[in-house]
Amino acid sequence: MTDNRMFARRIRALAMKHNEMFRDSIPLIASENLMSPLAMEMLISDFGSRYAEGLPYHRYYQGNEYVDEVEVLVMDLAKKFFRAESVDPRPISGTVANIATLYGTTSPGDKITVPPLSGGGHISAARFGAVGLRGLHSTAYPFNTEDMNIDVDGTIRLIKQEKPKVCLFGRSVFLFPAPLKELSEAFDEVGCTVWYDAAHVLGLIGGGKFQDPLREGATVITASTHKTFPGPQHGIILSNDTSDLWKHIQRGVFPGVLSNHHLNAMAALGITLAEELEYGAEYAQNTIANATTMAQTLAEGGISVLGEKNGFTRSHTIVADVREQGGGKYAAEVLEQAGIILNKNMLPWDSSKNSQNPSGIRIGTQEITRLGFDRSDTKEVARLIADVLVRHRSPEDVKEEVKELKRNHRTIRYCFGTHEAYSYVKILEEIGE
Ligand SMILES: *Cc1c(COP(=O)(O)O)cnc(C)c1O
Repeated sequence: MTDNRMFARRIRALAMKHNEMFRDSIPLIASENLMSPLAMEMLISDFGSRYAEGLPYHRYYQGNEYVDEVEVLVMDLAKKFFRAESVDPRPISGTVANIATLYGTTSPGDKITVPPLSGGGHISAARFGAVGLRGLHSTAYPFNTEDMNIDVDGTIRLIKQEKPKVCLFGRSVFLFPAPLKELSEAFDEVGCTVWYDAAHVLGLIGGGKFQDPLREGATVITASTHKTFPGPQHGIILSNDTSDLWKHIQRGVFPGVLSNHHLNAMAALGITLAEELEYGAEYAQNTIANATTMAQTLAEGGISVLGEKNGFTRSHTIVADVREQGGGKYAAEVLEQAGIILNKNMLPWDSSKNSQNPSGIRIGTQEITRLGFDRSDTKEVARLIADVLVRHRSPEDVKEEVKELKRNHRTIRYCFGTHEAYSYVKILEEIGE
């Protein structure tokens, strides 16, 4: 066998091992999800080999007859699901949607206010991320650790004092809705663009179970389409604006920050939207119910879950302070040995110095909910986490129970058709020789 064939085989074997690892694990990363079988099928269609620069029916290349129809359908489905007048389904990720929006709404030197990184702000809102790349002056909102949300009075003062061009909301540790209504008078006074980054909570918003930013004062929403919204790795921009601002944002997308918009992922996004219109409300509701159950059970099991004052969470996410259990790095690694996959996370009092060993862990329930975990299954997951972190059971023993629990939960729910998750690579033939 030639080396090159061997490398190709090796990569396929690694992909299969990866699938098996996830098949046997409990996936709790708050920013991940599983695609439906029909959406997944779109990724291997020929759409994935083509370009369609521009807007539907105004393209630069030939061969776009069917792509145009798909893109219009995707936009119509998104308008319906999110109740938005304007939709751009082309950004190839949430970060790309954010960069395009920065490009369309600001000029270098403008001021922007953003969520603080230690309070769950995303790197794209940081000085060393997209906001800094655009050359903006950013100031972070004050954060209230007890509420696990930005501090309303301090934020009103900050906005009135800074008079930013854009106020950005939305976080990667997004337990409670952003207080948009409470801030509306400050927005009006300074005349800023209100930008809501819904990367984490897009599925909950579409399902009508979190908050409704476009009706609470947001001008534009950007998002990833693969976190609580269970679609392909892609991005989207939504707005009720139809004026020049929207045109500037669209020009930010193309020709601003992309050329190819990953037509296969866009088609997969459309299929997911159709499925979410059918099942999204129920899915969002069960995801949040499981998060609340997870938080309560962990707290009863001796783990310090944040946000207790407000019922721990109103989203898919919970965060826990695990300093007493060995810190975030240790907790995430020992749980991985037990087949429970989650991530260490900075908590509000952590500084960038301890980003490699922060105080906390973050847990999301959107993916297990999609696999049919109900409240009693979720309690079982919380019990297994506490077994490892509090009762110091050996991760190897716990892993056997994790596998057993997962054995009954391998079919993806809330979608059309049925298919076992984690089995896709095997559909291709062997390479031979
Ligand atoms: C995940 C995330 C993004 C973008 O992520 P992509 O991986 O680029 O899709 C943007 N903002 C927030 C708040 C996020 O959590």
